[in-house]
Amino acid sequence: MVELVLALNAGSSNLKCALFEAGGEEPTEVGRTKVDIHGPMADAAAVAELLAWAQALHPSGRLVAVGHRVVHGGASFQEPTLVDEPVLAMLDELSPLAPLHQPQSLATIRAVTTARPDLPQAACFDTAFHRTLPAVATRFGLPRGFHDAGVRRYGFHGLSYEHIAERLRMLDPAMAAGRVIVAHLGSGASLCAMINGRSIDTTMGFSPLDGLVMNTRCGELDPGVVIYLQNHQGLTIAEVQDLLYRRSGLLGVSGISGDMRELLSSSAANAREAVDLFVFRVARNVGALAASLGGIDGIVFTAGIGENSPAIRALIAERLSWLGLSLDDAANQRGGQGRIDSVGGRLAAWVIPTDEERMIAKQTLATAARGRPGKPRAAQ
Ligand code: ADP
Repeated sequence: MVELVLALNAGSSNLKCALFEAGGEEPTEVGRTKVDIHGPMADAAAVAELLAWAQALHPSGRLVAVGHRVVHGGASFQEPTLVDEPVLAMLDELSPLAPLHQPQSLATIRAVTTARPDLPQAACFDTAFHRTLPAVATRFGLPRGFHDAGVRRYGFHGLSYEHIAERLRMLDPAMAAGRVIVAHLGSGASLCAMINGRSIDTTMGFSPLDGLVMNTRCGELDPGVVIYLQNHQGLTIAEVQDLLYRRSGLLGVSGISGDMRELLSSSAANAREAVDLFVFRVARNVGALAASLGGIDGIVFTAGIGENSPAIRALIAERLSWLGLSLDDAANQRGGQGRIDSVGGRLAAWVIPTDEERMIAKQTLATAARGRPGKPRAAQ
């Protein structure tokens, strides 16, 4: 009987899901879908719907494992891990570090446990890919004790970056072996600097708030602003959290939308300003990461904006021409996966679609094969 693995990617408002056949070198995708979720009570219903969807899609297959994207693994989880109650309790403790994402993933894991307690489940972490960050890239300028207590830079979007690193190795091995910046530009957005496919610096830090301007998240911010908002504008901690996670970024600056497509089609000056800020921050941070890399050989664009917006890629390239980035206009407009740099450019440039669900499926199958349920593999 064909063995199946279900990959679940819980966002703040929806649950993405993909079903894969196990076996062979790579899992084979059977299909994918997405359901809306509205709070934890809806998780049971959403999970029941997805399990029924998987069964109907491949009636002769047998589901052998479920994998989840979990945003924060903290310092303890540096590789995918089978989930049991003690692991869930540790992951619960990390929820304050990613309040928009972590609770949703954990609620989904619990809903699957209730529906199918027989199935092994793996937690696949967005932070894990960044375990190779050099110590200097993980540290804030805070007293050492804070770092030792976990107040450090972790980095996120790791499932996406690992997928892109693997794809790039197949598509352009010479570039993959060099100094590459991957721009994951979606609702959430970050950059990762890699040498030979290993993360050596990234723009997100302690939480998924840092770095680039995002759909509703502010990105890098002078910490003095947070002190000021609380001391002088009377915002409570909960209000600051809501402001920085849900009301800032493209939405806050434009006052129109956090959705890049809508902003690009708007003629409002505030929409243009939000787009300009997004591009400015991407370009500025590419410069910073190029310094971390000691030079740069190529750049990869991925995720919703990076994969689908020739206009944003062109604006970013315009600001990075000093670095040797020059796009071939026709290739940039073509859409889909491909190389998009122009003949005269010094940097290679690719568009490569990301696939976090495939990475979840691969990691889940490998983890399920390695460890038995109840034997979590937490790194020390
Ligand atoms: P998530 O998976 O976090 O929901 P995505 O990676 O799907 O995010 O990215 C969503 C973002 O991509 C939105 O801002 C959306 O407007 C943008 N996007 C998708 N298609 C296009 C496009 N053709 N042009 C510009 N932006 C796009």
